[in-house]
Amino acid sequence: MSPKYKRIILKLSGEAMAGERGIGIDPETIKVIAKEVVKIHDLNVEIGIVVGGGNFWRGRSASTMDRATSDYMGMLGTVMNALALQDALESLEVDTRVQTAIEMKEVAEPYIRRRAIRHLEKGRIVIFSAGIGNPYFSTDTTAALRAAEINADVILLAKKGVDGIYDSDPKINHEAVKYTDLDYKEILNKELKIMDATATSLCMDNDIPLIVFGIDTPSNMLDVVMGKDIGTKVK
Ligand code: UDP
Repeated sequence: MSPKYKRIILKLSGEAMAGERGIGIDPETIKVIAKEVVKIHDLNVEIGIVVGGGNFWRGRSASTMDRATSDYMGMLGTVMNALALQDALESLEVDTRVQTAIEMKEVAEPYIRRRAIRHLEKGRIVIFSAGIGNPYFSTDTTAALRAAEINADVILLAKKGVDGIYDSDPKINHEAVKYTDLDYKEILNKELKIMDATATSLCMDNDIPLIVFGIDTPSNMLDVVMGKDIGTKVK
């Protein structure tokens, strides 16, 4: 069997990096994720990874701080996750590049679209960090934007603690029903809390398919790439 996609954007939330700790980085958890990513890479799938930062900081959560300052702190958190993931991937002998949307040349390359594409073509995994580099945005929006920019076939949105999109929060409502297929308009109209509206509209306007699935079973990533029906598909 061959993979369903040639080029993907994998969005890993910050929480996925924290494992059972809930905050910060759990190197063992990242190692497990990295091993699964390498299995996808071995199938010659081109992989761009957008990392979140919620395991360190979320701009919105500091209500007494200046929002932009708080958001910049959140973006810096994503860089730490990117470096941890790069370390785990490279320990498995895979070439990677971290790119940052806020310049910090001593740490990583600045985000340059054409260079990112070149890395992908050469089989390097590109980790996109620091979001889009602007406050008031999210890393989900970053995933949508980078997917459009690099012409990815799909966005894989790996979530911790939930395995797809539900009609209400499954952690609160045990009767919540999971969708297998959805379209972006329904997400917006029903105000489903899976991605912010900016990210959702960007995906919708650019016709980028999205698959939302649980990362608690890390092998799901490979299964999704192989076209297995897991999680919720959004078109
Ligand atoms: N952030 C931002 N601009 C971006 C991306 C992220 O300001 O383009 C900030 C924002 O404060 C956000 C934090 O970085 O709360 C961490 O990102 P996010 O909440 O998307 O991470 P995740 O929930 O995926 O772990």
